[in-house]
Amino acid sequence: MKAVAKTQPAAGVEIIDVEEPSIRPGCVKLRLERASVCGTDLHIYQWDPWAAGRIKPPRIIGHEFCGTITEVGEGVTDRKVGDFVSSESHIVALDDPDYIRGDGHIAKSTQILGVDVDGGFAEFAVIPAMNARLTDASVPRGVASMQDALGNAVHTAMDGPIEGQTILISGLGPIGLFAGAICKCLGAKKVYGTEVSPYRIELGEQIGIDRVINPTKEDPMEVLGREEPGGVDGVLEMSGHPSSLKLAIEATRPGGRISQLGVFKENHQAIDMNQLIFKGLRFQGIVGRRLWETWDQMHWLLTEKGLDVTPIVTHEMPFTEIEKAFGILEQGEAGKIVLTF
Ligand code: ZN
Repeated sequence: MKAVAKTQPAAGVEIIDVEEPSIRPGCVKLRLERASVCGTDLHIYQWDPWAAGRIKPPRIIGHEFCGTITEVGEGVTDRKVGDFVSSESHIVALDDPDYIRGDGHIAKSTQILGVDVDGGFAEFAVIPAMNARLTDASVPRGVASMQDALGNAVHTAMDGPIEGQTILISGLGPIGLFAGAICKCLGAKKVYGTEVSPYRIELGEQIGIDRVINPTKEDPMEVLGREEPGGVDGVLEMSGHPSSLKLAIEATRPGGRISQLGVFKENHQAIDMNQLIFKGLRFQGIVGRRLWETWDQMHWLLTEKGLDVTPIVTHEMPFTEIEKAFGILEQGEAGKIVLTF
């Protein structure tokens, strides 16, 4: 079969011919239908310090994908041939105390598909049955493939109340855009966004974010101070930018919440801790998707609440054109890029 792999400890990827993976106990084999390209894949492609320190080539990359099960391994009773499934990228040991406690999304035993073990930018993939999440056939294939990323947005948005609330989303990359669609779907009173890229500002408006503020053109604090003098109810911080963290603390009303998904370049951030304390803010770090509560919420949003994130899929191309996909992502002129097989 053909696969996209990191073959050398250097920038770039290769399309390789490799044997189909064989089934293993506790796993399922799936025939790929769609995959989506993530910022993490771009880091691997560019071979940044994180990728260089973590990935041991040769490695088939890709962790967001969907497909149909063609084989089930020994001991698998809750998946069958023909099931349509989507990938959860975090592989966790069943006996991991973090997983048993209900914190599987931050389990110490976590291995990531397409990073620590072979992933899904290939015609076939073998993954733990638990990581192959059953997906309703009514979900469009492109959307099904990106549920790992959509799940980050579901986890962040549903970390606090949304209905009737004013929400600020700082950073409208794909996950911020997903979060915007989720907040609108769940009846937020007003959704604000901050974003500097004209391309993404337009996508934000297209999915229904009420007011997108471009910090290079107007001061977000000044706009929010005028339009929401009491403060916003919640901030979904998606950018990992120091100025967005400062804005979140300033702009959230007393008793509101800050749900922090963006990762900062620098580990240490100077913030006004006393404002956080005296406003009684709740600050929650968000990683991955809760196993499996987030997946259940996402299933409900997609099949019963009519969540539509299809406008965020801006490109679709054969997986063998992966270099082209990375080129588009490097230019920043994309929402999600979906690969076909
Ligand atoms: Zn991803």
